[in-house]
Amino acid sequence: MLPFIRSDLAQFSAYKPHPSSHTNQAVQASTKIDRLDTNESPYDLPSELKEKLAWTYQQFIETNRYPDGGHETLKSAIKDYVNESAHLSPSVFTASHISLGNGSDELIRSILIASCLGGEGSILVAQPTFSMYAILAQTLGIPVVTVGRNEANFEIDIPAAQLAIEQTQHPPIRAVFVVHPNSPTANSLSIAELTWIRNLPEHILVVIDEAYFEFSQDTLAGELQQRPNWAVLRTFSKAFRLAALRLGYCLAHPELIAILEKVRLPYNLPSFSLAAATVALQNRTLVLESISETLAERAKLIQALSQHCALQVWESATNFVYVRLKPNGSHSQDATVKNLHQNLKAAGTLVREINGGLRITVGTPDENARTLNRLQAALIHLSK
Ligand SMILES: *Cc1c(COP(=O)(O)O)cnc(C)c1O
Repeated sequence: MLPFIRSDLAQFSAYKPHPSSHTNQAVQASTKIDRLDTNESPYDLPSELKEKLAWTYQQFIETNRYPDGGHETLKSAIKDYVNESAHLSPSVFTASHISLGNGSDELIRSILIASCLGGEGSILVAQPTFSMYAILAQTLGIPVVTVGRNEANFEIDIPAAQLAIEQTQHPPIRAVFVVHPNSPTANSLSIAELTWIRNLPEHILVVIDEAYFEFSQDTLAGELQQRPNWAVLRTFSKAFRLAALRLGYCLAHPELIAILEKVRLPYNLPSFSLAAATVALQNRTLVLESISETLAERAKLIQALSQHCALQVWESATNFVYVRLKPNGSHSQDATVKNLHQNLKAAGTLVREINGGLRITVGTPDENARTLNRLQAALIHLSK
């Protein structure tokens, strides 16, 4: 351990990104790995938009100049999209309700800095959920309080969460993170969960991560006007097919947005990323066209998986499905799931193993067919 490093960082483990496709192009080309472990779209940006972007790059981006640090053009395009997609009048959301981040990851970190840093607050999460909230909190020395979920439908254990809020001190809970719909379990917030977050006191910030909004079409953005203690996060990494360019946004009360703007780095977004997200929004009908195929493929995948007597499959409001093995008593569930995960990987399908289950991204029709075949083969192999 380096003597000048904060002692609490020693036992801390970093997020494990999946192996880069760029450094492994030769391997990729020969083995054709199905990357269904990070919930990206299986489709690159349409080539006509890539051409448009290349042209924008040629004509308008001066690489010697700093990017637009105020993000004005993109914020304007986002407000139009948000108002339209939440069926709100065009004047409800303005640029003052929006802050942009280098992925939603940066916004999560800014929110943590703004609410909890310096021993002022802890955060509350319900496991299993998106891992970055806890990882980023730990890097900042912010305590993470964890509660569970109902094992049948993955609803947050609300009595436990309520108790945690009442009993956590030094520092008290200042922020609650929920994903709507949740990752890895793919369920939207239930009526009970919605009632709970609507009744949380105003001194607790409620962060609602809508990374999968384009698949669920279920948003709480329309309620933000009445709720100064809520923030909604969105990303361009999933349905908008721009994971490579790192762009997320936060919708919230202008006072909270002003703080997030203070906390972020002045030039957090490269000009090219700003241009790409703007082009994607201007052409959203084309970019989001692939969603209907994903939803149809998801239904087929769930249908096929639920035929399998060894598997338990849940409904999904996202572009991925979550499966577990049904308990059968003879061997450890955890070991078997790890084994399945490894078998799939060896066969060329990467999925994510989380909390005793597998989170499988819906890919192209061919990828999904291979997922089913490989899973079937792995299950037969395990039962021998
Ligand atoms: C994928 C995902 C994100 C996106 O993060 P970016 O940093 O914008 O790529 C955010 N939240 C959840 C729950 C996700 O699954």
